[in-house]
Amino acid sequence: MAVLASRDRTCVHPSLTRLPGGGGGGGGGGGRGRGGRAAERAAAAASFAAGGFDVAAAAGPSRAASGSLAEECRTLVNADGCGFHRRADAVAAAVPAVHDIEELVAVGREVRGCPYFAARTLMTTADLVLCPYSYLADPLVRAAMAIDLDGAVVIIDEAHNIEDVCREGASLDTSAPVLAAAADTLRSAVVPLQRQPTVVAALTAVATALTRLAAWTDAVAAGGRLAPRPGDGRRAVRVWPAAELPPLLDHLGISEASMGALTHHLSVLRADALGEALVDWATVIPAGVLVFLPSYRLLSQLTARWAATGVWARLCGAKSAVLVEPSAASVREAAGGGGGGGDGGGGAAATAASAYEAVARAYAAAVAGGGGALLFAVYRGKVSEGMDFKDDLARGVVLVGVPYPAAMDLNLQRKQQRTER
Ligand code: SF4
Repeated sequence: MAVLASRDRTCVHPSLTRLPGGGGGGGGGGGRGRGGRAAERAAAAASFAAGGFDVAAAAGPSRAASGSLAEECRTLVNADGCGFHRRADAVAAAVPAVHDIEELVAVGREVRGCPYFAARTLMTTADLVLCPYSYLADPLVRAAMAIDLDGAVVIIDEAHNIEDVCREGASLDTSAPVLAAAADTLRSAVVPLQRQPTVVAALTAVATALTRLAAWTDAVAAGGRLAPRPGDGRRAVRVWPAAELPPLLDHLGISEASMGALTHHLSVLRADALGEALVDWATVIPAGVLVFLPSYRLLSQLTARWAATGVWARLCGAKSAVLVEPSAASVREAAGGGGGGGDGGGGAAATAASAYEAVARAYAAAVAGGGGALLFAVYRGKVSEGMDFKDDLARGVVLVGVPYPAAMDLNLQRKQQRTER
């Protein structure tokens, strides 16, 4: 087994454990705090960058996480300046097969080796790896730790925390020099891509936005509009209410409307990534797989994209039936023209019911026939709320997006208005 934890919790270097964020080894859960995670994440970003997109290095040595334990460790290790690092294998050899962080750190002190790097060595051969959520959910940390989930069974304890961890994983601590360096890197990156105008437009839009953000952060700092951060004399902050940010970014030329090329390109990338993931899951998961999406609109955009890229054909190759839950509008249209302004009466309702039943029957028959089936449906639709999928009918359930209530629903709007009164 292996227990992964941040350097803040496992470092035994006597000088570094006195740095801000240094937990001194195992005690007090220091590595779970936001500061510890942020520092570890910054170090992970730098380490990740060393393998490719080196924005941090381009920005020079004085970076956001400079002075953190993770950053100091990285500097020491790169210079072969930590004797504990050189004896990490001794810790891996001496630690009991079943252990916790405290025992790992105790063995590290005993044999004068690094528990942090010992855990990474143990991970390569372990059957069971215990780690904080961020090691899976944060792409930077995950890449830096070389965590490979291929063929792994992932068990998530206290899964209600995942939302916070994902939000933090998608957030970023950065600085004006790093933003400016990233913009320069992007501008250099588009030079050989002139034959791909969509990509050039998207990357140029990002580079422009980054330049403007960098200039704006510098202007805010130079204008003295920052207040000292409570309890941290080295930093100053200003917090903007959420309502003030969109117009502020808009003023800088950074808005969804002004970045149409980027928005379009990102949505295409997301659709392609989701399609590839679904092909993998449909291949691996036996029998029936249900896929739920937030809206019929998104469902029809995705199916159109996948039909054009060949993903839909590959899904059909993985399962003997690939079906889509019909929307009420499409059923009305198929039944003869939807007019009547909702006055279709019992006939329309019966048509809708038989359309859903036909899809459900086809799905069940494909599953029973052994070839498996994939059914796309929508949150709050007939499939998500009115049908029972037992055993082979739902060996896998894929949820895309968050099932928020429909923002345009009249009842919901009235309820909101009343609550806000
Ligand atoms: S390599 Fe050295 S500095 Fe880095 S975590 Fe291990 S003991 Fe601490």
